[in-house]
Amino acid sequence: MTREPRIKGKSVHRMLDKNTITMTGICSNCGPVDIWRNTKGTYLCGPAREEQRRASGRNDPTRLWVTRKRLRELVEEAEVCAICDVYKDDARLGVDHVKGTDLVRGVLCTRCNLALGYFFHDPNLLREAAKYLEENPGRELDDPYGREVG
Ligand SMILES: [Zn+2]
Ligand SMILES: [Zn+2]
Repeated sequence: MTREPRIKGKSVHRMLDKNTITMTGICSNCGPVDIWRNTKGTYLCGPAREEQRRASGRNDPTRLWVTRKRLRELVEEAEVCAICDVYKDDARLGVDHVKGTDLVRGVLCTRCNLALGYFFHDPNLLREAAKYLEENPGRELDDPYGREVG
């Protein structure tokens, strides 16, 4: 279990108990609380989360935190994949994150989400791939053994 580094002069919020299904817990400082999960997978109470946010000293969007509950809601609200339109009963839909952050782009099916990853989330590369497919519909090659094809 990872523990957040203790910052001098701050109140100590220790998670005495937590339920990651209901996203509630018992904080040593605050008592019963809603809990939040950060990108490192650490669970904190709301006040501790606010303290850490403020301690970061700047409004860094990569430091935003998102609850698992909120992510689940996003997926539940979505009907189809934002790219291929596959319906949620026919595929597994999930949240598409900006890598290494809690920024959310949208809800995609697993296949589209993986495909974007393979293309390094680079729109230019994806455009080049589409152009390649359009410009190269496929052609017959000569038989490697010198026989005529066709
Ligand atoms: Zn607390
Ligand atoms: Zn899709």
